[in-house]
Amino acid sequence: MAIQLPDLTYAKDALVPYISAQTLEFHHGKHHKAYVDNANKLIEGTALANEPLETIIRNVAGDVSKAGLFNNASQVWNHSFYWQCIKPKGGGTPAGAIADKIRTTWGSFEKFTEEFKNAGMTQFGSGWAWLVLDGSTLKITKTANADTPIAHGLKPLLTVDVWEHAYYLDYQNRRPDYLTAFIGNLINWDFVNANLG
Ligand code: MN
Repeated sequence: MAIQLPDLTYAKDALVPYISAQTLEFHHGKHHKAYVDNANKLIEGTALANEPLETIIRNVAGDVSKAGLFNNASQVWNHSFYWQCIKPKGGGTPAGAIADKIRTTWGSFEKFTEEFKNAGMTQFGSGWAWLVLDGSTLKITKTANADTPIAHGLKPLLTVDVWEHAYYLDYQNRRPDYLTAFIGNLINWDFVNANLG
């Protein structure tokens, strides 16, 4: 079973004005697809050809001779996860277990959003900001380039892509504005709650 490019569960224009159809066309249809195609080429005919994506990532993590496969496979995983972290008319204050856990951990939802946004703003160059579970503890982390928490024993709950290709068509260099829109209007908290369970 080759690695698949998942379909988006919302229309390409469903996130306007926060993320344009053009950004989704390039980001999903070109960037994400290229990672899928590259990863499939790199596993073809190898012992990893039929393994699940997460197994492939964990198998080659830290192996410098397999950096190409790690980068492409991790980018497939990170993007497939990122699309699910978004929904039209999302964002704002969460409900459910994640809301309680965020308040317990950071004191308030506002403090959490400040720190999550700060993680995205301070990731130098390309990468990702994450809300993860480390054991049973909520943490905000960031990873560079293709790196992913699943290679480090952490359970991802939420991510935001801060590669320029995620926001440059809509926000140019204004990464903070993209992060504000993501937090205020795009996060799929139902997905985050499901990941917590
Ligand atoms: Mn991306």
